[in-house]
Amino acid sequence: NLRIGIVGLPNVGKSTFFNVLTKSSIPAENFPFCTIDPNEARVTVPDYRFDMLCQDHTPKSQIPAYLNVVDIAGLVKGANEGQGLGNAFLSHISGCDAIFHMLRLFKDEDITHVEGEVDPVRDIQIINDELRLKDIALIEKPLHDIEKLYVRGNDKKTQGRIRGPEKEIVILNKYLFLTAKPMIYLMNMSKKEYLKRKSKFLMPLKQKIDAVDPGATCILYSAQYELEFMDADAATQETMAKEAPSQLEKIITNGFKGLGLEYFFTAGEDEVRAWIIKKNTKAPQAAGRIHTDFEKGFIMAEVMDWEAWEQERSEAKVKAIGRYRQQGKTYIVKNGDIIFFKFNT
Ligand code: GDP
Repeated sequence: NLRIGIVGLPNVGKSTFFNVLTKSSIPAENFPFCTIDPNEARVTVPDYRFDMLCQDHTPKSQIPAYLNVVDIAGLVKGANEGQGLGNAFLSHISGCDAIFHMLRLFKDEDITHVEGEVDPVRDIQIINDELRLKDIALIEKPLHDIEKLYVRGNDKKTQGRIRGPEKEIVILNKYLFLTAKPMIYLMNMSKKEYLKRKSKFLMPLKQKIDAVDPGATCILYSAQYELEFMDADAATQETMAKEAPSQLEKIITNGFKGLGLEYFFTAGEDEVRAWIIKKNTKAPQAAGRIHTDFEKGFIMAEVMDWEAWEQERSEAKVKAIGRYRQQGKTYIVKNGDIIFFKFNT
């Protein structure tokens, strides 16, 4: 169950945005077997393919893919030395698999900024420094341990403790690093600036991000506007969208991608459902997402690729064009595949 955390300095708009997510989250009763923390929201990943499948099958039950988002409050300068919520805060980031890095571009005299002036370029540096310093602290002990292993390697009694390079890799597991987590920058503008898509910070921010995190996804939005959008009725939303679209779907979709996740579908009269898997998952393990028995007794996967379904919109027609395929144990499931598994009980 991978999660993405919202990280940023105080008063940048994290709770406002989290509030938007909570309002759009899937009701807890849809997940009777899991408990969700109050600082966690589970939101639907919007996807026209899922909607199309539901339209084609009119199933009794519809279960889309979802994204878990965690609100991580409390990062301030010096957190790595225990300032603010300090280490507790940083360990919450550790528990996430990707990061929404929220930056404040909006000015508001009534809302103080912990660092004084509003300056998102400086804020990027503060946050990324904290994450880096925490990583360094984290690596110091294992480095020391490795050094000891080598020194002791010359000592007969302890020679057995050196087991080749894999051992180092285990110790230096890069996924422990906060700075290794995929980061998506959310630029929280004032509503006024968002409507005009203008802010004096956009250029300097682009330069900064190109320098420290080239290729990173950046999304311009306004938390305040999203909240108003969320609370508006459908007709008002339509009018609002003409002026400036909500960025919520884009943020959720990119968060999901950032986690390296995708999904396949099962579809029929009873249920249309998206099953979340990691990229490059093989058919038996994908089957195991549905039920462990499916994985253990896996015989084959009957697969329609998404493009075939989109073109034909019927199983018989997909069969007729030869795109209903039987796949074995080594098949790597593709994003959007529609699968029927055969298995031994
Ligand atoms: P957090 O500390 O990062 O969780 O920040 P909050 O979401 O609590 O926001 C701090 C303050 O900024 C609140 O009073 C919000 O209403 C306000 N705020 C958030 N987003 C915007 C925005 O886009 N424009 C303006 N003017 N205020 C905002």
